[in-house]
Amino acid sequence: MEGKAWHQLTEDELAKSLATDIKGGIAPEEAERRLNEHGPNELAERQGESPIKLFINQFKDFMVLVLVGATVVSGLLGEMLDALTIIAIILINGVLGFLQEYRAERSLKALKELSAPSAKVMRNGALVIVPAKELVPGDLVLLESGDRVPADLRLIESNQCTIEEAALTGESVPVAKHAAAIGSPELALGDRKNCAYLGTMVTRGTAKGIVIKTGMATEMGHIANLIQQTEESETPLQRRLEQLGKILIVLALALTVVVVLAGVLHGQPIYDMFLAGVSLAVAAIPEGLPAIVTIALALGVQRMIKRRAIVRKLPSVETLGCASVICSDKTGTLTQNKMTVTRLWIGGRQVDVSGEGYEPTGQFLSGGKPVEVKGDAGLRRLTQIAALCNNAELATEERSDEAKRKKAAKEAEAAGSTPWNVKGDPTEGALLVLAGKSGVSRSSLEALYPRVKEFPFDAERKRMSVMVAHQGGNLICTKGAPDMLIERCSYVLWDGNVVPFTGTLRTKVLQANEAMASDALRVLGFAYRDVRAHEQCDNEDQAENGLIFIGLAGMIDPPRREVFEAIVKCRQAGIKTVMITGDHRTTAEAIARTIGILPKDGKAMSGADVGLMTDEQLDKTSDDVYVYARVSPEHKLRIVQSLQRQGHVVAMTGDGVNDAPAVKAADIGIAMGITGTDVTKEASSLVLADDNFASIVAAVEEGRGIYENIRKFIRYLLASNVGEILTMFLAMMAGLPLPLIPIQILWVNLVTDGLPAMALGVDQAESDLMRHKPRSAKENIFARRLGWKIISRGVLIGVCTLAAFVLTLGGMSGDGAQLVHAQTVAFATLVLAQLIHVFDCRSSRSIFHRRFFENKFLVLAVLSSLLLMLAVLYVEPLQPIFKTVPLSLRDWALVFVAAGIPTFLMGIGSVWGSSRRRRKSGRISYGNAARPAVR
Ligand code: ATP
Repeated sequence: MEGKAWHQLTEDELAKSLATDIKGGIAPEEAERRLNEHGPNELAERQGESPIKLFINQFKDFMVLVLVGATVVSGLLGEMLDALTIIAIILINGVLGFLQEYRAERSLKALKELSAPSAKVMRNGALVIVPAKELVPGDLVLLESGDRVPADLRLIESNQCTIEEAALTGESVPVAKHAAAIGSPELALGDRKNCAYLGTMVTRGTAKGIVIKTGMATEMGHIANLIQQTEESETPLQRRLEQLGKILIVLALALTVVVVLAGVLHGQPIYDMFLAGVSLAVAAIPEGLPAIVTIALALGVQRMIKRRAIVRKLPSVETLGCASVICSDKTGTLTQNKMTVTRLWIGGRQVDVSGEGYEPTGQFLSGGKPVEVKGDAGLRRLTQIAALCNNAELATEERSDEAKRKKAAKEAEAAGSTPWNVKGDPTEGALLVLAGKSGVSRSSLEALYPRVKEFPFDAERKRMSVMVAHQGGNLICTKGAPDMLIERCSYVLWDGNVVPFTGTLRTKVLQANEAMASDALRVLGFAYRDVRAHEQCDNEDQAENGLIFIGLAGMIDPPRREVFEAIVKCRQAGIKTVMITGDHRTTAEAIARTIGILPKDGKAMSGADVGLMTDEQLDKTSDDVYVYARVSPEHKLRIVQSLQRQGHVVAMTGDGVNDAPAVKAADIGIAMGITGTDVTKEASSLVLADDNFASIVAAVEEGRGIYENIRKFIRYLLASNVGEILTMFLAMMAGLPLPLIPIQILWVNLVTDGLPAMALGVDQAESDLMRHKPRSAKENIFARRLGWKIISRGVLIGVCTLAAFVLTLGGMSGDGAQLVHAQTVAFATLVLAQLIHVFDCRSSRSIFHRRFFENKFLVLAVLSSLLLMLAVLYVEPLQPIFKTVPLSLRDWALVFVAAGIPTFLMGIGSVWGSSRRRRKSGRISYGNAARPAVR
């Protein structure tokens, strides 16, 4: 053992050197100890921005630096109080900006944790799923197709296992793995066929391995620094807004220069105008826009998590709102994946099975009379194969404490279920329950028929087989999709006799299959054969041949309750739902009709049909097809691409390893959180925590809401900025004194623009959010009249503020006390106009279409802004700093009228405009669409 490489060790040597048990793994306490010793199984990550750097970044903005410079100069010139206040405002602004960004970064990090990989390990003989970072050397890990290898492993068992090691060796062809020791000490990584390495992918089969290295000690760890890439986390919208920001900066600066020049030409002191100009530029440049967009996205993403949808790639949040087709798996996503075998068909006889859920008690009935399984050769064989050709486990809830167990049983009973549960594939779980009802369990049978080899299930073959030993010989047991299974059968067990599988008998089987499927049952067929002495049985092709067909088992899998409503919602939102399933066409159609996916004139198609079509033919039909059945993963890719060519934005779900290409190609790739493989999850942009279709619809809804919220605060911020600039611009052009002094401008920027804009970012969606067609992915952010709304409202705010200023000033000039008075009125008008306007921004129609107190954050933000304004006006020590005076009732009347006019005018305008538009075109409304009854 000494000096031997890992791949040279025998099983015993391996167990000894890592102090582990090859069958049961290590104990949990020992795992904990080793975790302390070796550290977590993680690759060191490149550090993100430190909080301090993040804070300093807030002050790197060019205009902010100019403002600081100008303030320092004004401080030196003796305006100490002014300078200090401006510095304080800049600091507060910086702190707020920092908090926003810090929070955004933290929530992105939390997201990453949520989608962190897990591993299946044996600890003390029990199968547990642990976060991959908790693996330690000596752990016994189970791998199956679709898993990403969670650490460096030495394999001790391989069932047709192939692993793609491109990430490590650059070789994209998967390597077939085995478990035997290899003699030669020096071997290239790619030749160590009995090892599996962290980060590589299992493409087929299953395997078991012992962890030999974790974290940075792994082969991947050695090259970790080379392969670390930063994930693309900016969304197209963020990028577009950044570009827009640059244009706005130039625009704001140009206008500011004009304002300053005009002021100077009209005799304003140069220094005053300079400071006013810089303040105006700082206020008018929407430097906070990208940060607020990130926050709106990040907070939206957190809301999605609450609705069971985990976003892996931020850009998909935007795309979600554009989804026009959702292609969904059936089993587990549209249905509950709680299978129960209710009907069998054996040798021309129908046998019903009673009992509910996973509790293995029930009866077998033929024509209403109980059937004795022991005396029925077909039934006995079928149930035996159901248990042997199976990887699931059936158990009662594991409760150490008897009282707790009893309580759980009671609760389960009250909830109408039993404490029995299934570990593994629910289809196989249902078969174990079936076997249990016939009096056999997997463990008792496996003692008599130990497993020699497994040919795992895959979505292409739609079959699974095991080879078991019995009485000195071997037996092949197969189960799978009946239509795919009978191709492999040459005989059939009929009335207890093995007879040739003639055309007539095959037709009978297919008819029985069809009859079960049309009752929405998921059907599996069963077959077996003896292995002849010296027969080669190394792959599934050799094994699954010349089989003896036994019969069929049909299981119900009820639709998820919430799916009915979600599908109606999709229809109302102009989103088409398509079912794509590996199941039989008739079963799929029956379920699709029940849940409302398949309309009367809608088409269903099978994977074979898709296979026969050219891309052009598929493009012509794909718009009318609602159900694709018996689909293999490669068809999924073609379906996605065809829909995309029709101009659709496609959301596509997937779970198996072969689904990854389609999931990646879709505009929104969706992986299943529970049943999905690591590979599919990594290819996806969204993971469903509960595998539920309704969660996709919830995510689409959130996606739409987030986009609308971003539009809301862009509308608010830009209109406010237009108002601010215009007030100053018009005044300077008209040769008026400054309507707002620099500190007031900065104050407006900080208090009025900051908090309310944030509150808009978390605004509730409008009630008709899911009654619009999806927006086009190419839509401009200013589309649907947003640009017009911003400009018109900005102009109105600017003009009204200036009007209030001029009216109070009592003429075109004024100075001293009168000017301060007029500036205070202008300040109050501008603030109030913006705070009223913020409520307008909540609706795409008018302020009257929303409930006023619905967004509590907004009400709070506006109230606090109002209070701060009153403080600036009425708290005596603040008056000299902000150059304000208390206002009289008459002044307030003027302020209210001037600030209210924009909302009043725009409100009337939009009510009139929208009623005209509705008369002309009409928004799509399915207001009273029939809602299918929930079963
Ligand atoms: P979806 O793609 O909607 O999730 P599905 O689960 O029905 O659908 P697959 O898992 O690919 O799709 O199953 C396809 C067919 O393969 C099923 O109709 C069934 O007949 C058969 N099948 C499913 N699971 C097993 C299994 N564990 N062993 C053998 N055959 C199976």
